[in-house]
Amino acid sequence: SRARAYRGRFAPSPTGPLHAGSLVAALGSWLDARAHQGQWLLRIEDVDTPRSVFGAAQQIEAQLLACGLQWDEEPMWQSKQQESYQKALNQLIEEGQLYPCNCSRQTIAKTLEALGIETERHQDLVYPGSCRGKLGRKNEEPSTAWRIALPKYCAIEFEDRALGHQIQNLNQEVGDFVLRRSDGLFTYQLAVVVDDAEQGITHVVRGEDLLSNTARQIYLQKVLHYPTPEYLHLPLVLDEFGEKLSKQTLANAIDTSTPADALNALEQAANHLGLQEIAQQAHQSIGEFLSAATVAWKKKYY
Ligand code: GLU
Repeated sequence: SRARAYRGRFAPSPTGPLHAGSLVAALGSWLDARAHQGQWLLRIEDVDTPRSVFGAAQQIEAQLLACGLQWDEEPMWQSKQQESYQKALNQLIEEGQLYPCNCSRQTIAKTLEALGIETERHQDLVYPGSCRGKLGRKNEEPSTAWRIALPKYCAIEFEDRALGHQIQNLNQEVGDFVLRRSDGLFTYQLAVVVDDAEQGITHVVRGEDLLSNTARQIYLQKVLHYPTPEYLHLPLVLDEFGEKLSKQTLANAIDTSTPADALNALEQAANHLGLQEIAQQAHQSIGEFLSAATVAWKKKYY
């Protein structure tokens, strides 16, 4: 079959301005789209509305434009996608693939403890399936979470374009995961899969912190009969303590006040992407830098 035309995306959560780490994901996904002569779409991932910061999306858009990273088409906002998420959820409920669950984190931790399974305080708990008996129920209180029932053997394999062969056994490593939370919010896993399908995304390029989510997303694509995109996970930018830079750790916003500042931020991001030859050359303008970086990207990641 003919390959679908390339459509990539950058999908920031608007919890703060772009920092050195998120610029790497923005630049990497932009370069990959340009190298493939494809489209690059922007999606504001404000599905977790309580965590969204007012004005952050506009700030991110302004920073991207200052860096010459122009997106194609109107940005998609997850906060406006509720109907699509509900539709996907209903479909899976109708098919009997989901079950309602009201277990608190505490209950889950206790159950795991009783089973002799050790857990760490901040770790994501592997759900032991306590509510599986409710599989197939269709009508529940609105304040119910919905989990997907994984098949007994559920090892998901995929090729990451940078990291190579990946395998995750969802049953052992994740457990039946939540698609809609008890507070009514759809989870990132469901939202990102529905949106990637709706935007026709063929290639996902994003930070390595999201690698462990990919198997869950591929599983959801299969049960929802969506195509699976190609994946490329980029090296994370770590701070001086070896921790991932994130908005939560109050990473500094990149400075894009002048074109020279923006160019400097881009050069650092390119360096991080392993495009050192580009980062070290002198560039006349952002446009010239981006063309040179696209050529370098092709050599390294194509
Ligand atoms: N919104 C996610 C983040 O900012 C990225 C989601 C994705 O690229 O799949 O970490």
